[in-house]
Amino acid sequence: MSKKLNVAIIGGGIGGLAAANALIHQGIDVTVYERAPELGEVGAGVYITPNSLRHLYRIGLEDALRAVGAAVDEGSEYYRMDGSFVAPMQTTASDGLESLGMHRADLLGTLADALPEGAVVTGRECTGVTQDEAGVVLHFAGGETARADLAVGADGIQSRLREQIAGASHPIHSGSLAFRGLIDAEALPGWPMRAFQIWMGDGGKHFMTYPVRANRMMNYVAFIPSSEETLESWSSEGDVEVLRAAFAGWDKRVTGLLDRIDRCYWWGLYDREPLSRWTDGRVTLLGDAAHPMLPHLGQGANQAVEDGVALAAMLARKPGPEGLAAYEALRRERTSTVQAGARKNGKRYDGAYPDQAQRDKEIAASAAFRKSLYDFDVAREVEKVLA
Ligand code: FAD
Repeated sequence: MSKKLNVAIIGGGIGGLAAANALIHQGIDVTVYERAPELGEVGAGVYITPNSLRHLYRIGLEDALRAVGAAVDEGSEYYRMDGSFVAPMQTTASDGLESLGMHRADLLGTLADALPEGAVVTGRECTGVTQDEAGVVLHFAGGETARADLAVGADGIQSRLREQIAGASHPIHSGSLAFRGLIDAEALPGWPMRAFQIWMGDGGKHFMTYPVRANRMMNYVAFIPSSEETLESWSSEGDVEVLRAAFAGWDKRVTGLLDRIDRCYWWGLYDREPLSRWTDGRVTLLGDAAHPMLPHLGQGANQAVEDGVALAAMLARKPGPEGLAAYEALRRERTSTVQAGARKNGKRYDGAYPDQAQRDKEIAASAAFRKSLYDFDVAREVEKVLA
């Protein structure tokens, strides 16, 4: 009997844990190595769309995700900064499958709980991977090593493995930063708790809200221009007064929500240019390590989930370096297109268009694009390539 394939994943974020679930579902052994002493995500929302949700549902996570996620549908709309209506927002795929707003910790927890005992090893910072004909050796900061057949770098935008495969480079600063936070539904009487709402400004600003935690909390994200470059800012609490001042004079729904918050956190926004290759023999990349993108299509985590599904399906049929190469070949175009789309959409939301009427026209027409983004079924794409 042939030995079961064994894959090491470096990084226990949403991408790494989703990939681990997908691989196990395909009968492949997985160990996830995470550098932090325990798994965790920031206290903010993440919008999970049908193109990734359908796969998480297929591997048995539907009940668990629906229990903690927030259905997003009625009243989802785009507005100008004064609150005037621009267009309805497409939140579902053509088959009616809806998106979920999620607290990041709830998503990460659901993915972690579905893994077998011992599949995640924390407190292991990978410093590099070596490989030979027989497999890979992972090297960790404390001097320990671990062996596997293949290695996957899911270690985020500052990926060590990316540097090893593609050389060193700096992430690209977008010129804006995001303030984020959560607010209880009770503090927002009358707020449409199933709606994703975006207010598009000018001068590089926009504001969005969507529900999380079974529609009992609202997640808000405020984007403002900034020349300040910082990567490790999650621990930085933002100045609520600065945030309020940035949106003074906007629609009363925006200013009213900001009047009710007492804390927020901020984050610099970065992406990178697409890589021409992200696999080297027995080592590949996934999620932000491979293709970090701006959040303006809400797709970074969703694309990471798609990656994991494609990787697992390819390795089930081609259990070796050939499978990794086929996975990368399948994912490169899709992820580059979404990366570019996120940059473009940010310009729309921020009013970085000379002609706002043109911007509004494009937003109104974006439903068809959203639908095609959400209809994409990566498992079907793998089958097509393998057929
Ligand atoms: P990460 O989440 O960065 O995880 C990497 C993991 O690897 C971490 O746990 C880290 O500790 C670990 N690690 C790093 N180096 C090592 C090492 N050397 N050894 C071991 N472990 C290591 N995406 C969406 O789909 N929808 C959204 O609504 C959305 N909103 C966003 C809003 C904002 C403001 C931002 C900034 C991003 C948003 N994104 C969204 C993008 C999304 O957050 C990311 O694309 C996604 O979290 C990437 O997941 P990942 O697992 O690839 O990387």
